[in-house]
Amino acid sequence: MPLGVHTSIAGGLCKSVERAVSLGCDAMQMFGRNPRAWAWSPVSETDAALFRSKREEALLWPVAIHTTYLINLSAPDDVIFDKSVFLFKKELETAERLGADYLVTHLGSPGEMGRDFALRRILSALKETASAGLGKKTRVLLENTAGGGSGFGSSLADIGRIIEGASAFGLDAGLCYDTCHGFAAGYDMRTRDDVESLVKGIDKETGFKNLKLMHLNDSKGELNSRLDRHEHIGKGRIGIDGFAILLNHPKVLKTPLILETPKKTEGDDPMNLATIKRIIGEA
Ligand SMILES: [Zn+2]
Ligand SMILES: [Zn+2]
Repeated sequence: MPLGVHTSIAGGLCKSVERAVSLGCDAMQMFGRNPRAWAWSPVSETDAALFRSKREEALLWPVAIHTTYLINLSAPDDVIFDKSVFLFKKELETAERLGADYLVTHLGSPGEMGRDFALRRILSALKETASAGLGKKTRVLLENTAGGGSGFGSSLADIGRIIEGASAFGLDAGLCYDTCHGFAAGYDMRTRDDVESLVKGIDKETGFKNLKLMHLNDSKGELNSRLDRHEHIGKGRIGIDGFAILLNHPKVLKTPLILETPKKTEGDDPMNLATIKRIIGEA
């Protein structure tokens, strides 16, 4: 299974490729831009071409881009919603120009408006995206979230509905399953039975063929805590056994894996990569 980490784009987009290579990654994830700014500025064709060639040379697959945190595709406020859809489309367009395989996005927050409103909002955002001709070269992946506050997207059933709804207007979306978010939202994976029901749940709600990527994070928060706090693999509330069972599950075996574990020191990424390599093949 391809394994990589979320790498920084500090110093330029290509730097993320260099960082992934120096860590010995097969896959990578990065932001396509400053994740905390609304202002949009396009990537030049020279930079995009350089990125494509560096990535090809590095034999990285898949390359995923994570959208800006500001994007809220279920925002009740029309101004914020419109800005979000604009930026989402721009990010997808950039991802396609960079040759990224996936664009990973969260589903935002509908505030007081609730679930049905969020579903409608997101589907209208994706419909607009599809009618702009986007989402063919780079596949949109919906990431499950921890479900804190009024955040939407912690339920696999809801993600499944969006995937199904989007396919009606020709957009092939998929699932990016985040282990920390899932655990915080109540999807246990600590024992063999837990993993079995998680895998069955993913298949039933979203269709296993739509699981395109996994974010590997242990969780600082307890099961169902709704806390989005990532921890090193094996050092959180999930624990090493759960990861070993999940990653060796025959249905999961080929899913590309991206670590989003804390990076406090230079040694953190190599440590988590080594942990995952050690447990693959062990269960
Ligand atoms: Zn995310
Ligand atoms: Zn994640």
